[in-house]
Amino acid sequence: MLEASRSWRREGRSIGLVPTMGALHAGHMSLVHLARLENDIVVVSLFVNPIQFGPGEDFERYPRDLKRDVHMLREAKVDALYLPEPEAMYPPDASTRVHVGGVADPLEGKSRPGHFEGVATVVTKLFAAVEPDRAYFGQKDAQQVAVVERLARDLDLGVEVRVGPIVREPDGLALSSRNVYLRPAERRAARALSAALREAAAAYASGQRDPERLEAILAARLGSERLVEVDYAGLVDPGTFHKPGHLAVLAARVGKTRLIDNHDVSKPFPG
Ligand code: AMP
Repeated sequence: MLEASRSWRREGRSIGLVPTMGALHAGHMSLVHLARLENDIVVVSLFVNPIQFGPGEDFERYPRDLKRDVHMLREAKVDALYLPEPEAMYPPDASTRVHVGGVADPLEGKSRPGHFEGVATVVTKLFAAVEPDRAYFGQKDAQQVAVVERLARDLDLGVEVRVGPIVREPDGLALSSRNVYLRPAERRAARALSAALREAAAAYASGQRDPERLEAILAARLGSERLVEVDYAGLVDPGTFHKPGHLAVLAARVGKTRLIDNHDVSKPFPG
């Protein structure tokens, strides 16, 4: 990959990288389109990164459909697909991990120990393999964005981190490769996540500024669904992911599927 990248760079062509774990949907494709607009060359990486999954998480059953992914990327006029092999990414004697402190600690970091270390390590390796000018991440994974921005700055990686908005289903559910796990009743219950964010944003718009009241709105909406089990739901600063702030972040299990979503309540909820 690096040879191709370097030859593009020698020709003065800019490179945009979109890291993904495959099972592509319109959320991923929105990042591909943004990268297409801003760069001469678009590279999409597809790698289900084993080290960002904890024990008992869904690494083995994570959805994989390479044929469909390749078709979608061809249609979107992507220049290169980077498909690293797990054995090449993590040979048995590899012993380095990239640890981001601070912003990676609360919320997802707390619920999924080792997750952001896995993310930071793979992102560092992808950046080293592709040497992109810009890399594209979705606001869907808001804390991941903050972690990657911190990583790129702290290690002087020389990559501009670009963020695309959350793409949602018509009823508000944020697109996720994991949505395919949801049974029909769970899919209906999953609407509670975006509905909670919408209600908190509406309350904020009508003058509610008390973080505890806004958090109670999130909790009440999520609590109204029997199939939804809340992991966390709070309002944090979008830079530090500590309280207080106006980014509403939530994680919940719907049946066996863990979903996350977020919205800046100082802005109107889309749709
Ligand atoms: P994943 O394949 O789940 O690792 O996601 C790859 C990239 O797509 C990440 O930067 C995600 O934040 C982004 N992404 C996933 N779902 C969405 C969505 N619904 N809207 C926008 N970006 C998304």
